[in-house]
Formats: sequence, C-alpha cells, structure tokens
Amino acid sequence: MKVIRGISQMRAFTKNARAKEQTIGFVPTMGALHEGHLSLIRRARRDCDKVAVSIFVNPAQFGPKEDFKSYPRHPKKDLLLCGRGKVDAVFMPAAKDIYPPHFCTYVSVSGLSDVLCGRSRIGHFRGVATIVAKLFNIIEPDVAYFGQKDAQQAIIIGRMARDLNMPVNIRLMPTIREPSGLAKSSRNAYLSLEEKQRASVLYRALKMARELIRMGHKDASKIKKRMQRLISAHKITVEYISMVDLVDLAPVTKLYGTVLIALAARIGKTRLIDNIIVKI
Ligand code: AMP
Repeated sequence: MKVIRGISQMRAFTKNARAKEQTIGFVPTMGALHEGHLSLIRRARRDCDKVAVSIFVNPAQFGPKEDFKSYPRHPKKDLLLCGRGKVDAVFMPAAKDIYPPHFCTYVSVSGLSDVLCGRSRIGHFRGVATIVAKLFNIIEPDVAYFGQKDAQQAIIIGRMARDLNMPVNIRLMPTIREPSGLAKSSRNAYLSLEEKQRASVLYRALKMARELIRMGHKDASKIKKRMQRLISAHKITVEYISMVDLVDLAPVTKLYGTVLIALAARIGKTRLIDNIIVKI
C-alpha cells in the first residue's frame, strides 16, 4: 500500500494504473475510519482493479463554530485499517497543498445545498463539492463510493458530476449501523455510552415512519410530528425532520413515489444525522 502526500505523486499513481488499463475505485473520507468507511472500501475492492482512499479533514466544509479542530484524527489506525482492506493508495494531502495561497475557486451546487443540513451549515456543501471536485481532478477515478448516511452529500456530488461532465460513476452504499441501530459515524466518538444509547432512538423514529407509511399513512406532517415526539422524549433536540423528493430534495407533503426521510438532531453538543429511503 502506498501512502501518498503529494498531488503529483497521486497523479503518477493514476497514470500508472491507466497505462495498464486498470480501473480506479475511490473512497473519499475524513479519516477516523469505521465500519461504514470500510464497507465502501470493500465494495471498491470488489469492483475495481485499484482502490484509492483519501484521508483529509477538509477545513472548507466546517463552519467557524464547528468541530474542525476537535474532529477525531487517528492516522496510524486508519493506515492499518486501509492496509487490512487491501487499499492500493492512501492519499493524505497537506491542507496547504490543497488550498494554496490565493485559492479562490469553489464549486456550488445551488438549491440542493441550501436545504436540510445546508440550512444550518452555511457553506458546508460548497466546501464538500469543492474538495470532492478537486480530488476527482487529482485521482481521476472511474467509480467513487459514498455512504447513504450522508445522503444529501451523495446527491449533491452526483449532481455536480453530472452537471460538470465529470467522467466518474457515483455509487451510493447502504448505511452501516451499530447493533442498536445508531448509524456509525466518526462523530459518535463524542458521545458518552448513555448518549449513544439515547441516540439509537433516531433510527427507531425513522423505522416508525417507514412502518406508518407501510400501514397507509400519507400525511408527511403527521408522521413528522410523531417522530419529533418520540425523539424529544429522549432529551434530544431535533434540528429538522424532512421528507423530500430524492432527486431535487423538495419537500413532499403527501407521500408517494420514492421519499428520503432525513433528520438532524443534537445530543448535548454533538450533531447527528440519519435518514432512510422509502419506496411507497
Ligand atoms: P466522512 O469520513 O464522515 O466524510 O465519510 C466518508 C464517507 O463514508 C462518506 O461517503 C460517508 O457517507 C461514508 N460513511 C460515513 N458513515 C457511514 C456509515 N455509517 N455507513 C456507510 N457509509 C458511511
């Protein structure tokens, strides 16, 4: 496994694979790897000749009051896990190389970036789209893997790739969860054991919504109220619960077709997100 820090070395890796007509699968991450990330790596390993993983805590996607400084960083353990996952190249660039002095070009996926998490995390998805566009330009993968856990992010990246004619396939992979149902996340490290147990209500609320829909309920606002009640009963502050169209993320009031049910909530200082996709 190659650990690559320089942009030109990363390009050389890609050039070498291309010369051998090998396909490249790419998993972008911010490190603190867990089973969710590893599931994407495993899929890339199955699909592609070469697997590249990036580990970069991207300053451009954190707001001024967010957790950039305290975001968990475990590079040694991450490299061990990548090695075990038979990754070919781990790209760990320095921030000063990714955002050199006078950097001023950003990618904005308008509309899709302003709803759901974009409402409270101003500029977050601009930061995400910009770093992913840069990584796509550097690594030139055939396929890039994203988790449904961050569904809005994956939808935004899919739209960006389509709108800007980027020659990459975007593959959405299922959310990996703890046995309790809590979606695995690097930010779960901020939670105490007791908070983790309480946080598992988020997925229970999503499953309850799915069950109500299966039983024939069609009124989004009624289902959202019941979810809100269930979550609040566990001393968790709901930031939003939304039922939206999977393509344009527009809110739906009557539930038909394929709907993304997404939520964000705060337990103490920790912000958690989760979602399910329901086909009606
Ligand atoms: P992050 O390191 O949090 O930026 O995540 C990197 C990639 O891993 C993103 O595509 C995430 O959606 C994906 N990911 C994070 N958590 C999970 C999970 N629990 N299940 C599946 N994919 C995940």
